[in-house]
Amino acid sequence: MRYECGQCGAALTFAGVRTETCPYCASGNVLQRPAASVGPDPAFVLAFAGDAAWARARLGRWIGRRVLIADPALARASVEELRGVYLPAYLYSAVARTDYTASVGEHYTETETYTKTAEDGTKREETRTVTRTEYRPIAGEHLGYITDVLVSASVGLDHGTFSRLEPFELGLLRRYRPALVSGWIQEEFSRDPDACRQVSRGEAVDAVGDKLRAFVPGDSHADLAWQTRVEWESLDPILVPVWVFGVRYRPDKAPVRIVINGQTGKVTGKVPLSWWKVTLLALAAAAVVAAIVLLVLHTQRPAP
Ligand SMILES: [Zn+2]
Repeated sequence: MRYECGQCGAALTFAGVRTETCPYCASGNVLQRPAASVGPDPAFVLAFAGDAAWARARLGRWIGRRVLIADPALARASVEELRGVYLPAYLYSAVARTDYTASVGEHYTETETYTKTAEDGTKREETRTVTRTEYRPIAGEHLGYITDVLVSASVGLDHGTFSRLEPFELGLLRRYRPALVSGWIQEEFSRDPDACRQVSRGEAVDAVGDKLRAFVPGDSHADLAWQTRVEWESLDPILVPVWVFGVRYRPDKAPVRIVINGQTGKVTGKVPLSWWKVTLLALAAAAVVAAIVLLVLHTQRPAP
């Protein structure tokens, strides 16, 4: 059965899962839609590493570390709203062929003679060793294999949030079978593959720059310029496991969303702050500083 969130537009399929709210925006406006095949079928899937208790423990620890500043309503919010979602993503791979030019510096040492003037005014010739750099222009080609660029294909979860969940252990990818995802919410591929390819290609080309800086020979280099062409591009639709904690902890506030990498347990999200807690902490810190200053002044006062 296919459902669509009336609030954020996420398209979800539930295989044996009951839910009344959208995992992404905590909206109750989830409408049943006829099954419409819009996106591709996933080719590979990464499995969840743990169950809901596993994810709740990580979420609890993450919120616990922020308990001094977090809105207390968040701690009271029901962790039952934690949902496991198979998130659609594209795995991009390509060969990057890069032509580069640079000015490569080689260090060499030289002995130079200089005149030293002593305190009594006499002059003397002395020698010292100095390191100099000689630059020469080079040009070359670098071939790189890009195999690990992932980009979110979900309208529910933006690419920035997705990037903060990375890395995923891609060595554990398995060929997709419906049985692997039964019992979980599966989100449909809702981003345009061409747009995803553009984003992936951009990330891949950026990564070439880092590789190149390490690759260029010599002791140092300057004026590195390069041009990359990508060949043999492929874009595989895959599903990755994420836990989404979407909750309206206060009726007057925007919903909070905390996301957990279902494979590694890495947590990302913005915790809503409690202003009175932050103010109290700041006042307490100021009081400690004032106490120390007073103490120092007091002990420095000369004895009568
Ligand atoms: Zn939604």
